[in-house]
Amino acid sequence: MSDYGLIIAGEKRAIEAGFDINDPATGALVGRCPNARQVDLDAAVAAARQAFPGWRATATEARAQACNRIADAIESHAAELARLLTREQGKPLGGTGSEFELGGCVAWTRYAASIDLPVEVLEDNEQQRVEQHRKPLGVVASITPWNWPLMIAIWHIIPAIRTGNTVVIKPSPYTPLSTLRLIEIINAELPPGVINAIAGEDPLGAAISEHPGIDKIVFTGSTATGKKVMAGSAATLKRLTLELGGNDAAIVLPDVDPAAIAEKIFWSAFINSGQTCAALKRLYVHDAVYEPLCAALTEVAEKTPLGNGLEPGVLLGPLQNAMQFEKVKALVADARARGARILCGGDPLPGDGYFYPPTLVADIGAGARLVDEEQFGTALPIIRYSDIEQAIESANACEQGLGGSIWSADIAAARALAPRLECGTVWINSHAGVQPNVPFGGVKASGFGVEFGIAGMQAYTSIQIVTVDKQ
Ligand code: NAD
Repeated sequence: MSDYGLIIAGEKRAIEAGFDINDPATGALVGRCPNARQVDLDAAVAAARQAFPGWRATATEARAQACNRIADAIESHAAELARLLTREQGKPLGGTGSEFELGGCVAWTRYAASIDLPVEVLEDNEQQRVEQHRKPLGVVASITPWNWPLMIAIWHIIPAIRTGNTVVIKPSPYTPLSTLRLIEIINAELPPGVINAIAGEDPLGAAISEHPGIDKIVFTGSTATGKKVMAGSAATLKRLTLELGGNDAAIVLPDVDPAAIAEKIFWSAFINSGQTCAALKRLYVHDAVYEPLCAALTEVAEKTPLGNGLEPGVLLGPLQNAMQFEKVKALVADARARGARILCGGDPLPGDGYFYPPTLVADIGAGARLVDEEQFGTALPIIRYSDIEQAIESANACEQGLGGSIWSADIAAARALAPRLECGTVWINSHAGVQPNVPFGGVKASGFGVEFGIAGMQAYTSIQIVTVDKQ
């Protein structure tokens, strides 16, 4: 019997079938995850459908209060959740790791509680009054990845609940346990059936895409899987928000002070061991500052403590899984075979965990897998350029378009370049920062729709116009 349960119709349900979740730092067993079947998915969707009319009819203030209670509950369980997250995901407790992620969960939940989507009066005169109402969609399914499992779960489910929808969430089979525990905590603050959690292997995601009882899917994951979700949900015309992969470029102009920006650039790329959708993944550096920036970045990389995330002082943990570990190894091997210069790292650490030290790769360009593919790990290609037009063209020569950045002492020059990057967010002198009140989403193969802010919340509603004829 699994120690972690599904959450269906307000109850925790342990089931016989399960699979082991192991710590990526040590290989030790963290716990057994229930392996839900179609019948469990059907039960979760039925519970969400049944809870929908009551939850939709709940006053918006009451739903806001419920979100604040959820934030309080997450805060009071933050230490337990952070530890479980570190054990199954690998990220450190401190730094920008698990405790930071739990802080984000609370901040995004409180923000959702603080905003509303009131009726808008579009016209009111002697002839007619026209109102625009926002109505919940029904049952929202959330499918999450393994890199920021709790924060992304919160990003999906809280705005859905806040606007009167009910939810079925399916976490990644790599990191399901912390999400199941999070949902158990959230469930205690809500009427039965408003939030339901099922966990299992990838086919469960495909079953969600096709399920006729689901009205919307909010999906965060790879571009390849996002396409499958879209295809699978076509027959039932589900609403979709697709937050997919990115291969973000940063362009460093010749006027920067390399020593001053190195630490910020390093963490923009290596946050969560590079396993972040909008991490800096291709670094284009002007010839005039190329070698000094390479040297400054190497200095930061070599002093950053890598280890088991439960140990104090560790800032970088292992990669999360064997697939990701093998991918980073293969991309660095390809770069090496093409004659690229490995400035630091370049080989996995011996031992049980998936430890791959931060690896900076210079003298590399298009054609290398590390440049052309999303690495999602601890290896960063540093590409030399001398002509800004060529740098912009290379940055945009990518099927994805999540984020991008320009680094310069001349803000006006950087602002002038920003609109030329084909991506959903352009940061100037930073990269990868997100916040609850600012819409975030990708263009091109990075997906469509936004999360966060008013626009993000609107994505969980449909518009209904009510027109009153006064004549
Ligand atoms: P993934 O696509 O392999 O898996 C994501 C989720 O989809 C998991 O829950 C998985 O079980 C499920 N799934 C697998 N097959 C499915 C199918 N056929 N139908 C429906 N669901 C299915 O992605 P991952 O490896 O977990 O996450 C890494 C990727 O996510 C990276 O590409 C990263 O850039 C992206 N990501 C994007 C954002 C963003 O906001 N744009 C945020 C985080 C991660």
